[in-house]
Amino acid sequence: MAENEKSKAEELKEKLVYKKPDIFEKLGAEGMAKCSEYAAGYMKFIDAAKTEREAVKYGIMLAKERGFVEHKLGEKVAPGGKYYYNNRGKQLFVFTVGSEPESGIIISAAHVDSPRIDLKPMPLYEDSGFAFFKTHYYGGVKKYQWTAIPLAIHGVVSLPNGETVEVTVGEDEGDPVFYITDLLPHLAKDQMARSLADGITGEGLNILLGSQPCPNGGDEKIKLNILSILHEKYGMTEADFRCAELTVVPALKARDVGFDRSFIGAYGHDDRVCAYPALTAVLDTESPRRTIMAVFADKEEIGSVGVSGMESMIFDDLIEDLAVSAGVTSRELRAESICLSADVNAAFDPNYGEVYERRNSAFANGGVVLTKYTGSRGKSGSSDASAELVGKIARIFDKAGVVWQIGELGKVDQGGGGTVAGYIANRNIETVDLGVPVLSMHAPYELIAKTDLYMTYLAFRAVNAEG
Ligand code: MN
Ligand code: MN
Repeated sequence: MAENEKSKAEELKEKLVYKKPDIFEKLGAEGMAKCSEYAAGYMKFIDAAKTEREAVKYGIMLAKERGFVEHKLGEKVAPGGKYYYNNRGKQLFVFTVGSEPESGIIISAAHVDSPRIDLKPMPLYEDSGFAFFKTHYYGGVKKYQWTAIPLAIHGVVSLPNGETVEVTVGEDEGDPVFYITDLLPHLAKDQMARSLADGITGEGLNILLGSQPCPNGGDEKIKLNILSILHEKYGMTEADFRCAELTVVPALKARDVGFDRSFIGAYGHDDRVCAYPALTAVLDTESPRRTIMAVFADKEEIGSVGVSGMESMIFDDLIEDLAVSAGVTSRELRAESICLSADVNAAFDPNYGEVYERRNSAFANGGVVLTKYTGSRGKSGSSDASAELVGKIARIFDKAGVVWQIGELGKVDQGGGGTVAGYIANRNIETVDLGVPVLSMHAPYELIAKTDLYMTYLAFRAVNAEG
């Protein structure tokens, strides 16, 4: 009798209780080999794409290699056609028109801007034998993390002759790097007593550029020497800084992390670790029924506003082109479409376990994270995906063998965050958040697990094929 009851309980357990899948078991040796190969491609991308402009450029290169052609606004597109649209070099749309283009678009929307340190419009100054750049940080950075590490400068300068010159210094082996100084512990009594938020101030993030004078250069001879170097290299003057976008990022390359190489450390996983799978899943999906589209958006880290952010009308204009070509209204096309808002989530970190709620956190090596809602303090600011949409995506994943997990960003009232989901959902497109769990998010060097990256790619593939 007791034996009987025990086996019945086992049966119930099997049938009713959720069991977390084992991603390593699921992938097996063959899957893990593919995962490593995929990760290597991603590491090349992330090293080449430290700014939104560089990510867009790399994305276009990959798309062109696969036969995608440039779409011009207002032009018709044909079923089976493969296109990309480059919005000012900062936002990218890559799409394959479906065989039934009137049946909607499957959109995978990620962002390719990351937290960083931007130069102020008049950045260059000299103080006490040093030349520095003044900066204004971009996005949510913990300022103390950006001191005492090697930094690179990336960006563009628009010259008076109308030419745009590209600047990249600090990435090649032979390049110099840049630096933000911190205080020695011996003299940091007052600084150490301040909170982490105030230990390093925004106005304290000054980039050290050099210390060598221009001979007979007068009062500001170190500054003059820097200007002379910049003029020789880029043809720019001090006035041209006002017409530039120059940004400071960590001069660090993506590396395998851990004895078992299971993690990738890199700058800017948020959100290029979702952008790369979203793009490659479109490139690798042949003959979709519905139109499939990957989006590289800009400005997510500062609110998705502006001409290259997800709120830009360019998105609506492209949908209009797709609708006209499919013989339906954009209103109808949007209503039939779905969006996977592809962004990272916080991976549970046992070193800071107190801010997470274990049962509802995403874990590294737990697979792609499906995030029903984001927001903070009572889900404020979240588009909150419907049960039906989450159900539909979950069924696609389960059928395709995609290992997935749910994830909420930390404990209730601990903080929160948002993504591009709301801006797309506002357009009457059913949207759910999905992406890779990240450790040390927004730090100069973030961590992700390779299996989660690969599973996110498989997730986009599955939805593109099935959706
Ligand atoms: Mn993000
Ligand atoms: Mn972010």
